Amino acid sequence: MNNPIDRLSINQVTTRDQWSLVEAIDGYARHGVTAMAVWADKLREMGVGAAARRLRDAGMTVTGYCAGGDLTARDGVAARRRIDENRRMIDEAAAIGSRCLVVIGGGLDADDRDLPGARARALERVAELVPHARAAGMTLALEPLHPMVCALRSVLTTLRQANDWCDALDAGPTVGIAVDTYCVWWDPELAAQIARAAGRIVAFHVADWLPDTCDLRLDRGMPGDGVVDIAAIRKMVEATGYTGHHEVEIFSARNWWRRDPDEVVRVCVERHARSV
Ligand code: ZN
Repeated sequence: MNNPIDRLSINQVTTRDQWSLVEAIDGYARHGVTAMAVWADKLREMGVGAAARRLRDAGMTVTGYCAGGDLTARDGVAARRRIDENRRMIDEAAAIGSRCLVVIGGGLDADDRDLPGARARALERVAELVPHARAAGMTLALEPLHPMVCALRSVLTTLRQANDWCDALDAGPTVGIAVDTYCVWWDPELAAQIARAAGRIVAFHVADWLPDTCDLRLDRGMPGDGVVDIAAIRKMVEATGYTGHHEVEIFSARNWWRRDPDEVVRVCVERHARSV
């Protein structure tokens, strides 16, 4: 277990525009990568049964299934649809043996000005998902996103808030936290809130923040290309007892999604060994 690649997972969004799920499984395996995270649209394109078999045959550990949550809608019908969709995703995550279902908060409806209200709805609906997740043996990984995407993607924005939600839900191992360096690196409370999350961290996502970023979601940097001390954050996370994978997760419309995917995977392996 001393070879760094054994701790590396690649989130398949890193090769989103180049590879289908089957191509990603085979492509990562070709480079010696033994863990990955899977997205719902790609899984459904392939079919859950076929994907589960292929992942198993390739010896892939599935470190996460993306992306559940999005639970802030005010409209009751829309809210019900999202809860049903999340239940389906819990079942799919279980079918592929994922370690967790990643859960983001959801943004604000276009005419919604009540941020505390949206946060309260999201928390209530995570609570509604807990029994189904528990029955499926699936962990819901609350992932705070960077506050710059609060309106668009997630009213869950800080690790303090994720810890508070875990306290409020009191759901034991059914609810945990995903720490993503891209989303939390700026937080003055980072060290304290990671320490507080001891025993709750179920996923560790790594990406860098480019100082000249040109898109808040789709311009993530490869570890080593930006301003985040990823190794320092990894040490904080591992000091809590986390022994899981380091999942490289790069949304990159202007750069990595345009490159030869084999080159992308090669760079992931190198940078993980050097900068994570
Ligand atoms: Zn993430």
